[in-house]
Amino acid sequence: MSEKTLFQKIADKELPSDLVHEDEQCIAFRDIHPAAPTHILVVPRKPIPRPDAIDPEDEALVGHLFTVARQIAAQEGLPDYRLVMNNGEGAGQSVFHIHLHLLAGRAFAWPPG
Ligand code: 5GP
Repeated sequence: MSEKTLFQKIADKELPSDLVHEDEQCIAFRDIHPAAPTHILVVPRKPIPRPDAIDPEDEALVGHLFTVARQIAAQEGLPDYRLVMNNGEGAGQSVFHIHLHLLAGRAFAWPPG
């Protein structure tokens, strides 16, 4: 059995986090280094390492991450927000357990840096 990812340890409460949501499929918690006034990570319990590794059987699970992100944004009163999932170090991925970034509370440039 391979070692747990950082985000599995957070999901299993072996490491602390500022949790905002949890259910059978995913958890959501505040990013430790927020890049915006609101910066929440929505993370499946299943440790899919990167978006490239999402299998067809994971489609409902990944869709659920978007549903949860939308619900959190509504709870937090955020009509405008950005959802980001990085794939690979060159794109900014640093934790190899997929996660949807929910960013809000400031203006965002486009194209992103
Ligand atoms: P990535 O760079 O992989 O797209 O995003 C990883 C995110 O995880 C980063 O925004 C980083 O700040 C956040 N992060 C890394 N370690 C921890 C941690 O231990 N706790 C929390 N809450 N966030 C973390």
